[in-house]
Amino acid sequence: MTTAINPTKVPRALTVAGSDCGGGAGIQADLKTFTALATYGMSVLTALTAQNTLGVTDIHAVPEDFVRAQFTAVISDLGVDAMKTGMLFSASLIETVADLVRDAQIPYLVVDPVMVATSGAHLLAPDAVSALVASLLPLATLITPNAPEADVLLQHVPDRSPGLPERIRSIADMKSAAAALHTLGPRYVLIKGGHLALDPVTLDPLHDEDAEATAQDGIVIDVLYDGVTREYTLFKSSRVKTLNTHGTGCTLSAAITALLASGATVPDAVRRGVAYTHQAIVHALPLGQGHGPLNHAF
Ligand code: PLP
Repeated sequence: MTTAINPTKVPRALTVAGSDCGGGAGIQADLKTFTALATYGMSVLTALTAQNTLGVTDIHAVPEDFVRAQFTAVISDLGVDAMKTGMLFSASLIETVADLVRDAQIPYLVVDPVMVATSGAHLLAPDAVSALVASLLPLATLITPNAPEADVLLQHVPDRSPGLPERIRSIADMKSAAAALHTLGPRYVLIKGGHLALDPVTLDPLHDEDAEATAQDGIVIDVLYDGVTREYTLFKSSRVKTLNTHGTGCTLSAAITALLASGATVPDAVRRGVAYTHQAIVHALPLGQGHGPLNHAF
């Protein structure tokens, strides 16, 4: 079933992801982001988490048939201009979502390969990574792994060149990892640098950007690779010194999805999505006793 036409000027964005009852991450973060960026937001839930700023205490997976029913309800009537996936939890849920996406012909699919929460909770079964790689990544316009997620996905690249790092440590590593992950199917790969403490010893002095990164303290670099033009774009943000970063990855992929639904190109959506997420972190709320949530009303 293909997605319904859009008789309005309001861009339509869909998240297929897990719920965070604490409101900081998951579909709650996605819907807040969609609204802040003036899009009409919809959600198909794949899992419910009992969660707060300290961590996840329980997970309840949504049955595959009910995921199918939610998706069909949205696609057949309201329609979708761009969609993202977040927490997909199991191999069978991933395969269900991939089947649905394949039929729906949605213009843009952003896959945030959510694996482990900041608190350490597993949001994707370790044996589900193969299903993600085989079924969903080939359908994606853009994937948005952080460096540890990219390390896991790299294990699934069939023809690993000898230059590929075991663990991403530098901007040069991020670039070669992004090009390798493109071979798994998505046109664009964004590797997020927020989890990396760039180590001056391993930075490659032959790369201008690396030299610049070494010179500047406290910056985060995200690397976008376009597999068609083979161009890299680096996005630099100052690192915000805060504990309150819960929902950062969800927010970034949701912002990019909203901007794609609104007609932005992928590089422009990533640039503006990174800027939105940075502001949401700058204004993050010191709620709860753990990692507080981002603020979408700055
Ligand atoms: N909970 C849900 C439902 C999520 O989808 C995600 C991330 O995608 C998280 C938690 C992780 O949030 P964080 O690692 O930012 O705390």
